[in-house]
Amino acid sequence: MNCDTYLSMLETLPVDELAYGDAAHHAATCRDCDRVTRVVAERERNMLLAYGTITPPVPTGPLAAHAVELSRRRRIAFFFRTGLAAAAVVSVVGFVMTRRAATASIAPVTETFRLQCMSVDDAAALLRESLGPNIRLSARGGILRIGGRSVAELRQARSFLDMYESRCALGATGGVFPGSAAGAVKATRRVAPF
Ligand SMILES: [Zn+2]
Repeated sequence: MNCDTYLSMLETLPVDELAYGDAAHHAATCRDCDRVTRVVAERERNMLLAYGTITPPVPTGPLAAHAVELSRRRRIAFFFRTGLAAAAVVSVVGFVMTRRAATASIAPVTETFRLQCMSVDDAAALLRESLGPNIRLSARGGILRIGGRSVAELRQARSFLDMYESRCALGATGGVFPGSAAGAVKATRRVAPF
């Protein structure tokens, strides 16, 4: 074996494969090839150390199986994440729709009342006191709009308003305006001096 043959083998084969036979014999007798071989071997070892794997930790077969398994797990994880996201969207939509339905059921009915005597503010204060804070009130001009949870609640509101209005009318003609704090304010304002 001459130097050219040896060096061309060194280019293409792992250093270990040159450790026996004609190549080993040539390296043992040729200082140049021996020196090159040591340098190449040193670099090869450094490179393998740098990669952290002098030999592959598992044979190729199991490695491929592991890669397939990993890819399958990633695919399952992807579907799982997608499923979770879809479930989250569904629950958010469900929550919003439930809230909408609940809101709609809280105030399905509205009615407007034209006030004859009381101010809108006083009427609103009295109604809130009588029917609770859940009742929805809005006013424009002398017209009070009431949103209730049921027709019965609106009917109750109307009867309260009728009562307050009649008392207010009494107060306006000289009677004492009875009842709540709002009524008391109204009374002091409206009761004619004797
Ligand atoms: Zn040589």
